[in-house]
Amino acid sequence: MNVFVVNCGSSSLKYQLIDSETEKVIAKGLCERIGIDGRLTHKPTGKADVVKEVPMPDHQRAVSYVLEALTDADTGVIKDLSAIDAVGHRIVHGGEKFASSVIITNEVIAAIEECSDLAPLHNPANLIGISACRALMPEVPMVAVFDTAFHQTMPKEAYLYGIPYEYYEKYKIRKYGFHGTSHSFVSKRLLSIIGKENQESKVIVCHLGNGSSITAVKDGKSIDTSMGFTPLDGLIMGTRSGSLDPAVVQYLAGKLTCSVDDVMDILNKKSGVQGISGVSSDFRDLDEASAGGNKRAATALEMFAYRAASYIGSYVMAMNGVDAIAFTAGIGENNINMRRAICNHLGYLGITLDEEANSVRGEEIRISTADSATAVYVIPTNEELAIARETVALL
Ligand code: ADP
Repeated sequence: MNVFVVNCGSSSLKYQLIDSETEKVIAKGLCERIGIDGRLTHKPTGKADVVKEVPMPDHQRAVSYVLEALTDADTGVIKDLSAIDAVGHRIVHGGEKFASSVIITNEVIAAIEECSDLAPLHNPANLIGISACRALMPEVPMVAVFDTAFHQTMPKEAYLYGIPYEYYEKYKIRKYGFHGTSHSFVSKRLLSIIGKENQESKVIVCHLGNGSSITAVKDGKSIDTSMGFTPLDGLIMGTRSGSLDPAVVQYLAGKLTCSVDDVMDILNKKSGVQGISGVSSDFRDLDEASAGGNKRAATALEMFAYRAASYIGSYVMAMNGVDAIAFTAGIGENNINMRRAICNHLGYLGITLDEEANSVRGEEIRISTADSATAVYVIPTNEELAIARETVALL
C-alpha cells in the first residue's frame, strides 16, 4: 500500500510517499511560501532532487504540484494517482475528542474544526490540507493522526491546572501535550527493545528538537508530559521559554508597555536558548560558542540540561521508578554533549554513560553501560512512518 503522508502548515506542506510493506520512502518533499509565491522541493528516491519556483496561491495548488511531481515522467515515482492508496494527515490538536487516529469523514472534519479554537495557527492549516487532498483525490481514503491523541490517557491529577474547575469545564483549559506521534512511536520501539511490550513497564521518552517535550509512559500509556495547554510549556526550547511563573507575563507587559500578545510573541519566538544565549536557537551553534568561551551559550546549555533532568526526575516519581529512558529528535539523536549533560544529573538512577556508544549520532543505540541500573537508548523518531502505520492499521 502506498501512503501519502501530509503535514500541512499555514504556509508550508511537507509530504512523504511511503510504501507500507517495505516502509521505505518512495519520495518526499516540501512546498514553502504558499500564499506568498511558492517553492517546491521534491526528492524522489533514487532520482535527482527537483527544486521549482512555481506560483502557489493556495494549498490546493501546492498539492496539485506535488501530485504532478509524483507522477511526472522524469521526476515521478508512480505512474498515476491510482497508485496512491491512502492519505495520512498530521493534525496538531484533537482536543478531548480524539484519543486515537480516525478515518476522515465530514463529522471528523467538523470535530477538528471545533478544536481549532485550541490551536488557531495549526488546525485551520491542517484542515486546508485535508480539503486540498479531498478535492484532488476524492476517492482515496484519508486518516487523521493527532499530536495530542497519545496523551489523552493522562490522569486528571496530571492534566488539570490549579485554576477554578469551571475554566476546564467551560473552556477546556487543561494540559493536552504534543509530539504524541513521536512519543508513541519511540516508546513502542523502546518497549520492544527492552522486551516489555506486554508487561508492566515504566519508560521516559525525551523528544529534544527545536520544540522539545518529555513524556512518562507507564504500561505503554502516556501518564504525564511536559508540554501543556500549548507547546509553550515545559522544557526550555530553541526559541520558546518553557514553563515560567505566569506573573512574569503581566510584569513584562508593564515594563515594555506592550500587550499580552506581544509578550506571548517574545515567549514563543525570542526566548529559550536563543534568548538566553543571544547566539542561536541551534544547538550546534551553541556548542561551538560555548567551546569558544561564550558564557551565556554555556549557561543556556546548562539550563536546558537541568530542566530536562528535572522533568525526568519528576516522572520517575510519577511512575515510582523507571526501566529505561530514550532520547530522540534532532538534539536527542545527534547532540552527544547534551545527552551527557542530562545523564550527568541522573547518577541517583544508577545511570552510567558508555562514552563510546554516546559518540554515535543519528542511530539506534544503547548509550548506557551494560551495568547501568537504568538503560538509556537513542531511538531515531519517524513521525511520517508512524502516521503511515496508523493509516494502514485503520484502513
Ligand atoms: P524540529 O523540532 O524543528 O523538528 P529537530 O528535531 O530537527 O527540530 O531538531 C533541531 C535541533 O537538533 C537543532 O538544535 C540542531 O542543532 C540539533 N541537531 C541536529 N543535528 C545535529 C548534529 N549533528 N549535532 C548536534 N545537534 C544537532
